[in-house]
Amino acid sequence: MDSTVANEPSLEVKAFEVRKLHFDNAIQYYAPGLKRFETSEFKQSNPEIFQSISVTGSACALNCDHCDKKIIEPMIPVNNKEGLFELCRKLKEKGTETVLVSGGSMKNGQVPFMKHIEDIKRVREELGMKIMMHTGVVDEAMAKGLKDAGVDGVALDIIGAQETIKDVYHMDASVEDFDQSMKLLTDYGLSIRPHIILGLHFGKFLGEYAALDLIKKYNIGALILVILVPMHDTPMQNEKPPSTEEVETFFQKARIAMPDTKILIGCARPGGEYKEIVDKAAIDAGLNGIAYPAEGIIEYSRTKGLNPEFYEHACSCGVDI
Ligand code: SF4
Repeated sequence: MDSTVANEPSLEVKAFEVRKLHFDNAIQYYAPGLKRFETSEFKQSNPEIFQSISVTGSACALNCDHCDKKIIEPMIPVNNKEGLFELCRKLKEKGTETVLVSGGSMKNGQVPFMKHIEDIKRVREELGMKIMMHTGVVDEAMAKGLKDAGVDGVALDIIGAQETIKDVYHMDASVEDFDQSMKLLTDYGLSIRPHIILGLHFGKFLGEYAALDLIKKYNIGALILVILVPMHDTPMQNEKPPSTEEVETFFQKARIAMPDTKILIGCARPGGEYKEIVDKAAIDAGLNGIAYPAEGIIEYSRTKGLNPEFYEHACSCGVDI
């Protein structure tokens, strides 16, 4: 074998080297109160501190094949008579400091949050709460509205394949609309936390690398990677999540492609042994944080010379990202 190939460091080694060059040894672990979470290494202390709100309740015009509204059903619905401000005032009384405002989508891929934009501004200014948005695609008025409201960050799923937009999301939008949304949010100086769902096209990789290429054109707060979980009672319930090998390679290539961008593993990923394998792969690839880490991962990260930090808000909702 050619000696140069033999000496070529593996993608994993390269990726971890990139991490060491661009970041200190801190690694972030997140356990938002969206669900009860406890391991021998990490236990929630105040599940109320972070809450997620849906501006459409459990209504959505898309019924995506991987979700079918399951993601928004557990969120706190906004009662339109009472309004978002009053809802947040009550949550603050119970100890909530950060809210994620999201909701179902319209056919064009937009989440209808603009009628709440004045309340969003008041929640920040009068209640001093942190507001993270999880929008769909946005237009200029929405980007400007979010900027004027002073939101702390904007998350959105980036879909890199037109077939997935059509066959999975049933959305009247294009990859260009996601690109334009990233441009508008960047132009208005918002801190963006784009999400890529690995294995989104019925468990297969299709647009993930195109989504990564799209995202890396922009200055973002953090890149959030989640993995398809074939959810019960959805059209994808019988699909298989992507192979851990494909996921591991994507982690490494994302680390190398975006060397000084914080890359975090979000809440959604299959559990059990699958989770143990991909969480270890995330550490080995030099990623910066993991939500709901598998048992033993925190100690493993210490053996790699990393210093764990613990948060009880969603990974995309770190203000100091
Ligand atoms: S648009 Fe969002 S809430 Fe609606 S089905 Fe798709 S992923 Fe679920």
